Amino acid sequence: MLSYWETKHFFDYDLVVVGSGFVGLSTAIHFKKKNPKASVLVLERGIFPTGASTKNAGFACFGSLTEILDDFWQMTQEEVVKLVERRYQGITAIRDKFGDKALAYRHSYGYELLEKEQTSALDQMSDINKLLKPIFKKDVFSHVKKKERFGFSDSIQTIVKNGFEGELDPGKYMNELWGLTQKSGIRILTGVSVVEINKDDGIVIAEDAAGEGVYEFKANQVAICTNAFTQKLWKESEIEPGRGLILLSEPLNFKIPWKGSFHLDKGYVYFRELDGRLLLGGARNMDKGEENSTNFSVNPKIKAHLQQLATNVIFPGKEFNWETEWTGIMAFGNKKSPLIQKVGKKAAAAVRLGGMGVAIGWQVGKELASLLSSD
Ligand SMILES: Cc1cc2nc3c(=O)[nH]c(=O)nc-3n(C[C@H](O)[C@H](O)[C@H](O)COP(=O)(O)OP(=O)(O)OC[C@H]3O[C@@H](n4cnc5c(N)ncnc54)[C@H](O)[C@@H]3O)c2cc1C
Repeated sequence: MLSYWETKHFFDYDLVVVGSGFVGLSTAIHFKKKNPKASVLVLERGIFPTGASTKNAGFACFGSLTEILDDFWQMTQEEVVKLVERRYQGITAIRDKFGDKALAYRHSYGYELLEKEQTSALDQMSDINKLLKPIFKKDVFSHVKKKERFGFSDSIQTIVKNGFEGELDPGKYMNELWGLTQKSGIRILTGVSVVEINKDDGIVIAEDAAGEGVYEFKANQVAICTNAFTQKLWKESEIEPGRGLILLSEPLNFKIPWKGSFHLDKGYVYFRELDGRLLLGGARNMDKGEENSTNFSVNPKIKAHLQQLATNVIFPGKEFNWETEWTGIMAFGNKKSPLIQKVGKKAAAAVRLGGMGVAIGWQVGKELASLLSSD
């Protein structure tokens, strides 16, 4: 039962944001900046964001050579270039806003390992460099001639370097966003699961984790930032979940002969050094059907594949143990770019961040805030 004070002060807002990942918090912050007098509430079902934003690998990346080439099968040239530009601008924007130190950003470059059957990608490297020149002013991709110094297995025929990528700590990025929401006077309630949104009236129905009851929030506008979990609240959307697995080794007792963020298999597999350990993740493409899930469990087939890659390809002949593993859930759809649109008289959504929310979450939140503010 609610008190008079609770009913009077806690349920009416100018904006209610559902979901407190990178996109939800970025939306709230940008909206509040544009509308300083507005009351803004963020509702999050987890104790902290429980989707992808604090479960990811922390690559500040915009696409490896083979990933970009692969994109041409689904997107026009213009769309591919636009997406790369958006991702790169997104990375630059968060580095400018929060600073490299706060994000633990390391500009350690991106690398892609090519096996024999992928080396034909090199033939198109200079064309892709030409295509991206207007954005970067320099060549993005270059061929690493002395691949031996990385110590990978002989199955790796060649390595392509991307001079514009880096890596960061997603937990630190989240801390920065939390700090800014607090400073901006935005209220965040956690342990609140939204079960229904009336998108024309701005009514948001939610349940609390304690199972104490069902609550009705009222908003002039509602922002749906639930990414992989969007179907529940916006049934017509064609958002599909995609699970991602990450393995982390124990501290390694040998020196890692490389640094940077590495990709394999058209970007599906990725790895980096983290606090003297190996962080290795991805390989969703090994069992796409099973990975189309919002369940956070670990797929043993994918885990085994990643472990094999680690011992056979990344550190051949070296011994080490795994310390921990976790999964996160991404969102995909019929296009690779994010979906930002009105979904009712009083609601709009920004979802379908794919595997690139570190890079573009902040920017996507800004775009959603502009859409909401224009009403
Ligand atoms: C394993 C993995 C590795 C990745 N690696 C990278 C990377 O290296 N670089 C990169 O750029 N991107 C990476 N990504 C993708 C990136 O993490 C996502 O694109 C980004 O975090 C999406 O942010 P979001 O705010 O849209 O979604 P989320 O972070 O998923 O936030 C959505 C939030 O909504 C909440 N929610 C859902 N339903 C409800 C409800 N009904 N009521 C209340 N709250 C609700 C969820 O709990 C969640 O906190 C990776 C993702 C995964 C899973």
